[in-house]
Amino acid sequence: MESTTRPRDLTLLPKAHLHLHFTGSMRPTTLLELADKYGVHLPDALTGGEPPKLRATDERGWFRFQRLYDIARSCLRTAEDIQRLVREAAEEDVRDGSGWLEIQVDPTSYAPLLGGLIPAMEIILDAVDTASRDTGLGMRVLVAANRMKHPLEARTLARLAVRYADRGVVGFGLSNDERRGLARDFDRAFAIAREGGLLAAPHGGELTGPASVRDCLDDLRAARIGHGVRAAEDPRLLRRLADRGVTCEVCPASNVALGVYEKPEDVPLRTLFDAGVPMALGADDPLLFGSRLAAQYELAREHNGFDDTELAELARQSVRGSAADAPTQDKLLAGIDSWLAS
Ligand SMILES: [Zn+2]
Repeated sequence: MESTTRPRDLTLLPKAHLHLHFTGSMRPTTLLELADKYGVHLPDALTGGEPPKLRATDERGWFRFQRLYDIARSCLRTAEDIQRLVREAAEEDVRDGSGWLEIQVDPTSYAPLLGGLIPAMEIILDAVDTASRDTGLGMRVLVAANRMKHPLEARTLARLAVRYADRGVVGFGLSNDERRGLARDFDRAFAIAREGGLLAAPHGGELTGPASVRDCLDDLRAARIGHGVRAAEDPRLLRRLADRGVTCEVCPASNVALGVYEKPEDVPLRTLFDAGVPMALGADDPLLFGSRLAAQYELAREHNGFDDTELAELARQSVRGSAADAPTQDKLLAGIDSWLAS
């Protein structure tokens, strides 16, 4: 009998989205509208209707990426803008089959225009609450410190994050150029976060190699790694990640857009998967990389040869790596089984 297996619709596969940055989640059309509203001149790279050409494997390229990001962020000025951003991020995620979203934000970036760090935090968490209620999507927040800034600032942020643990903050991250500073400089901040019950989820193993992932494990006691793909270069490290069940938040489109890997088939999804390292595919910054959550699973299917059984397993890994409570996880896992059975 001829097989009638048609590829299942990946937007219907329930999944958790664990790596999405705040400004980077913005719809391109929203950026155009906000820029217009505030008279912000956008560089051509942000108005072309196509994602900008980026290459962050050298510091200049990373600086250019950050500059575009900063311009986009400068268009978020009021509580209404924040609410709109979060609502649209939730809507896009729901459309892509996400049942749980952990959005990552450095509130210091928004503090000056929103009346300070605490008002900024309140506005962000209220927006997340509202968007979650309106869309039915489970949403939580990771507060991310910036490794380009002083470690003392990260400690302040960690304390703030802990203070809002009962208001939807579930984790503490560390982002920006891995080539700057050492993970160890931020160990106090991460200790504060962990002692306060937050999940440690720093970026590592994106722009630099396996050593940066080891630093995240040893110095920051990471429970999850933002990216972590470069661990593929070190079989012992892969084993360690697998044994400890440390989830890597892998963002294939981002890796290719930033030149971490030349082509989607070069992203070592298969290496991590076969080594038993749990992964949660993420979109990172859809505004700049041009694709959202379901598209990451498409890439795994198209370029890394993942069949539907394996894609379902990837989705399960994303759910298990999330901070969602057991009933939410169970519901999503059951949905994944039904998707596969369909
Ligand atoms: Zn990231």
